[in-house]
Amino acid sequence: MATGWLSHELYFWHDTRSAGGFLPADGRTIEPEAHSESPATKRRFRNLVDVSGLLAKLVPLEPRAATEEEILRCHTRDYLERIKALSAENGGDAGELTPFGPGGYEIALLAAGGVITAIDAVLDATVDNVYALTRPPGHHAEPDIGRGFCIFANAAIGAKHAREARGLERVAVVDWDVHHGNGTQKIFWEDPSVLTISSHQDNNYPPDSGHVHEVGGGTGEGFNLNIPLPSGSGVGAYVAAYERVVAPALRAFDPDLIIVASGLDASNMDPLARMMMHSDGYRQLTQLMLDVADDVCEGRLVVEHEGGYSSPYVPFCGLAVVEALAGTKSDIDDPYLDFFKGAGGQDLQPHQAAAIEAAEANLSRLAAV
Ligand code: ZN
Repeated sequence: MATGWLSHELYFWHDTRSAGGFLPADGRTIEPEAHSESPATKRRFRNLVDVSGLLAKLVPLEPRAATEEEILRCHTRDYLERIKALSAENGGDAGELTPFGPGGYEIALLAAGGVITAIDAVLDATVDNVYALTRPPGHHAEPDIGRGFCIFANAAIGAKHAREARGLERVAVVDWDVHHGNGTQKIFWEDPSVLTISSHQDNNYPPDSGHVHEVGGGTGEGFNLNIPLPSGSGVGAYVAAYERVVAPALRAFDPDLIIVASGLDASNMDPLARMMMHSDGYRQLTQLMLDVADDVCEGRLVVEHEGGYSSPYVPFCGLAVVEALAGTKSDIDDPYLDFFKGAGGQDLQPHQAAAIEAAEANLSRLAAV
């Protein structure tokens, strides 16, 4: 099995400015320190894959910048021009909680283009599957506004490329970032050719977004699934959600390509969420996606990076995902795993099962169309 690895040094140079967590430092109430969405988690993830010896066994993929035409498949011309102009000056904010420095436009183009490069590599059978460690993330970005650290909708831009440039009939985007994939949902709301599924902590970010009743509209009704999980959900809830909702939805939809928006912020150590996933949980979800991809789309699976804010722990979750993709296990074991495995409530709890059941009910819409 050949697994691709795509990243670029410039991804780590995207500048989110000083902050207190996810809010900008304001010189009065919030003392400045590194923004939550800093390069550290991603750089440490890349470095652990390197130190594990796995990086040398992966197929290196060099990202290209997305073209304006490719960005405009998901975003308005006004928005693109606004980002470009701010970037050419001193940077700014793409809309809501999305700071960037000078040159941020070009780095965002390289992130979106990286997902396109990864998709092309899988469709051209250069690799079987790929992990694209891109930055900035993309799943909160909406057509005319950047939100939640996301400038361009990388996964959605990739899905559009697969459909419009590569001629695929159906594409699925599965989002396991702990926050709702609102941007992806919005872009494909009325589009039955792209199935969008988001599992996330119920009502975390964006507020009032990602409810179970948001199922798409018009001809896209039934092709958008949300699985809002209660705060505190662990591996039991995640595996159940993926076995009972995500996998059956994918099998019913029968896509030609599966894109995973891989946020690693559902972990037990993440500062921006309250879930209890651990590296072995991510390994299980990845294996499940591989199994489904094998059955429905000849194994064509592109995993692209989204959030994940625990500097010590993101690397171990990420390594587990990449190991699963490559069908191997490195010599490095997760040193935190025993602490998290034994946490109370890791098994599926009744109120979590109820939330999953509510999402499962929407599968009948998918089966009916
Ligand atoms: Zn997130």
